[in-house]
Amino acid sequence: MTASAKLVIVYATLYGMKLHHELFDVIVVGGGASGMMAAGQAAQRGKKVLLLEKNRRLGEKLLITGGGRCNITNEEYDVPAFLSHYGDSADFLYSPFHQFGVLNTFVFFESLGILLVVQARNRVFPKTERAVDVCNALAENMQKHGVIIKTNCIVKKVNQNGREIVNVETNQGVLSAKSFIFSTGGVSHPETGSTGDGFKWLRALGHSVKDPTPTIVPLSVADEWVKALSGVSLSFMKITIFLEGKKQFAKIGKVLFTHFGLSGPLILNIAGGVGDLLEDGVVTAAIDTYPDTNLGDMDKKVVNLFNLMKNSDLKTAFKELAPEGTAGALQGVLPQIDFNKKVHSVTRDERKLIVNTLKALPVTITGLMGNDMAVSADGGVELSEVDTRTMRSKLIDNLYITGDLLHINKPSGGYSLQLCWTTGFVAGNAVI
Ligand SMILES: Cc1cc2nc3c(=O)[nH]c(=O)nc-3n(C[C@H](O)[C@H](O)[C@H](O)COP(=O)(O)OP(=O)(O)OC[C@H]3O[C@@H](n4cnc5c(N)ncnc54)[C@H](O)[C@@H]3O)c2cc1C
Repeated sequence: MTASAKLVIVYATLYGMKLHHELFDVIVVGGGASGMMAAGQAAQRGKKVLLLEKNRRLGEKLLITGGGRCNITNEEYDVPAFLSHYGDSADFLYSPFHQFGVLNTFVFFESLGILLVVQARNRVFPKTERAVDVCNALAENMQKHGVIIKTNCIVKKVNQNGREIVNVETNQGVLSAKSFIFSTGGVSHPETGSTGDGFKWLRALGHSVKDPTPTIVPLSVADEWVKALSGVSLSFMKITIFLEGKKQFAKIGKVLFTHFGLSGPLILNIAGGVGDLLEDGVVTAAIDTYPDTNLGDMDKKVVNLFNLMKNSDLKTAFKELAPEGTAGALQGVLPQIDFNKKVHSVTRDERKLIVNTLKALPVTITGLMGNDMAVSADGGVELSEVDTRTMRSKLIDNLYITGDLLHINKPSGGYSLQLCWTTGFVAGNAVI
């Protein structure tokens, strides 16, 4: 080997080692929504930041948010009103949201060139309706501020000395920093990279971590008629939930029928409550297909229809009553009725049964679908162990925690990503 070739090898080796000998101000572990926000903000303050992401590309989960459209936040500028959606965690979130709230999210993304639009139920999306644009903007923001990004870099072990993290062991060597921000997400949709690694490290560091249970997740049901409607979506349904036959709560919204049960915004938003009830006994539901018509008016409506169609087959008349596309499957809920007979021979009891059924389709809920189908899971570090003003761990002095790693129950509608922007910003802004 020539002397110059040797020199090249020595130089290349030294360059490769450089990263490993470099002491960064901050290492952010996890290149998802909150990690990219935290890294960008820390770098903007002049910190030397290294971001480690185990996937080949950044923001795999962010890319599938809102069905690829990315529901960035929810347009509610009043902090107490916005925080009321986070239940018991609202108190913890006051300080972070006063530092970076919904309005800041608008200003921040628009400063990155991502124009936002408000859609139904105050949900905010990028005008392009492309999550990939949001992801690219966050990546460009990090690059602009000098964040060093290392993809395909899996953190395998976290080494601690007393109340400090010293370094992290990765598939690309040992990396050190003065401070660390953990942004490795939760456990929903693990194929995106969120496999719960952060929960394990945080436990090992002494934190109390509540086991994750899916909260925004479809429901599995026993009823064949539900599965027969797979693919049908009904936008104005009322679902009433019962525990051991006793009414618990009712909500109105959009239901999507699937081959395993029920999904759609209404179902996803009640899943957390249903999950709690399932621990206490048998949970059933009744779906009202005419939520704005009371039983008496509904009966009158059916009497009028039956008068008009008295010489038609009942199955033809039933199509006028059942929500579009559901008549066939809903006949399965009423096996005692012969739908081939003429309407004029339907008895009063049969008519009442039809009315009562359309006002309360019976469902037996067998469980929540798993983390693989969850939009969100609760679980994570107990908030009492995190400093609300900085997202700093109260146990490990140079550790900050963001996003889905925090034990906060979030409804759907942009509330999870808003938490990522808020906690990511606060951690990146506070990290020493
Ligand atoms: C299908 C679906 C749709 C959703 N839609 C919306 C929506 O429209 N609006 C909304 O508000 N919320 C939505 N959410 C929730 C939202 O996506 C999450 O709350 C958010 O992505 C969490 O961000 P995060 O930064 O905490 O973690 P994540 O986005 O999960 O990112 C964590 C990152 O850390 C990396 N990582 C993990 N372990 C390691 C390791 N050992 N070493 C290196 N890197 C590691 C992962 O690869 C991953 O990239 C949706 C979720 C799902 C599953």
